[in-house]
Amino acid sequence: MSQPDTIFALSSGRPPAAISVIRMSGPMAHEAGKRMAGSLPDPRMAAVRELRHPASGELLDDALVLRFDTPASSTGDDSVEFHCHGGRAIVDAVLAALGSIEGLRLAQPGEFTRRAFENGRIDLTEAEGLADLIEAETENQRKAALALAEGGLRKQIDAWQTRLLMLSAGAERTIDYDEADYAADPALARDCGNLAEELREWLERPRIEPLKDGARVVVAGAPNVGKSSLINAIAGSERAIVTDVPGTTRDHIEVPLALDGVPILLTDTAGLRETADQVEAIGVARASHLMEASDILVWLGEPKTAPAHPRLIKVHAKADLPERGEAPEGSLPVSSVTGEGLKALLERISGLAKALLPSEDAIALNRRQAALIEEASDVLNRAAAASDVVLVAEGLRQARGAFDRLTGRAGVEDVLDALFSRFCLGK
Ligand code: GDP
Repeated sequence: MSQPDTIFALSSGRPPAAISVIRMSGPMAHEAGKRMAGSLPDPRMAAVRELRHPASGELLDDALVLRFDTPASSTGDDSVEFHCHGGRAIVDAVLAALGSIEGLRLAQPGEFTRRAFENGRIDLTEAEGLADLIEAETENQRKAALALAEGGLRKQIDAWQTRLLMLSAGAERTIDYDEADYAADPALARDCGNLAEELREWLERPRIEPLKDGARVVVAGAPNVGKSSLINAIAGSERAIVTDVPGTTRDHIEVPLALDGVPILLTDTAGLRETADQVEAIGVARASHLMEASDILVWLGEPKTAPAHPRLIKVHAKADLPERGEAPEGSLPVSSVTGEGLKALLERISGLAKALLPSEDAIALNRRQAALIEEASDVLNRAAAASDVVLVAEGLRQARGAFDRLTGRAGVEDVLDALFSRFCLGK
């Protein structure tokens, strides 16, 4: 394998700041550090050094210098950090001096973390946790991201992989010695089934998305039932366009809210009805899609026509109008005009949304991770039901492949590009 480039970047926030941290990592990092700082401290020790331009010898700054040796660094490669004074001119001068050294180049966003992944310092689930950690805005998001970044899921996957390897070894032994007798020993099939079941249980736990993006609450029903008015009443704003011409809400409108501390993404849908208008037809198709993808469905239409949904709230809208009559059994009377029933509706929504959020410190799977765990669970279930041990061995191999993609050990180049582009420069 060819030597990786030595990369450098400003790893702290944009100057001016009290201190700016400039990192370099790669085979040339120590050499470059020495050329600017004169000498480097012992590994993992900090020392103050004068930083000078390697060609002109001009003094650039007094800085705290740290050194890390491969493999005991965050990237796994030799690394050096300069903690400089955080002035813009200082940072520019130090970065320019590093850029003048042959073999060094500016890092791309996320490249330090990518090196850590490629050098096996972290796996893909931990890199995902790091990306979430940097993006975390709330305390709960921070806790969930940290649990992932610290290897919570990786350790669990390691344990599953070990079990899969043992099962595979068992299957191979049976193939070698007593393939025809496979049916006589149900232990292997039973163990595959048990593991599949354990993975299923993980899939049923609350996911990370409601915590990151908010629980998706979709308000739906035929045109003119009062969806936009309800959303306006909840959001307390005039964001959604309310009119009495049916079908004016052409596309969906999203309002992010915090209900009782629970993040919610409230979504209005276009009227659901047969239509000849092409633009609206697109909106209608999207509405059905939004309803399917929703975490909670608030249905304002006829109670009998409510779609099947695991978390459905039926609302008897415009409850202030006498002609609407009594709310049918199971429907919540709500009026966007008088405010009747709004509080009860919000409590129902936040109660359902809360149950969707992962509990504190629990490992919450993201969509990518869940899809691969589901794939492993499915192939293991098929393996458990197979009558031929060769098929069992194949199923186990496929399950291992799914886990390899989960940790980033195999076949995930597109995932890597998408993930590391989420990081900022210098991370
Ligand atoms: P959408 O098409 O489902 O979004 O329905 P809109 O929110 O645009 O409402 C349609 C019409 O019903 C408008 O004229 C609203 O003013 C009226 N409306 C909506 N909610 C209520 C309500 O709670 N009470 C009364 N009296 N009128 C309402």
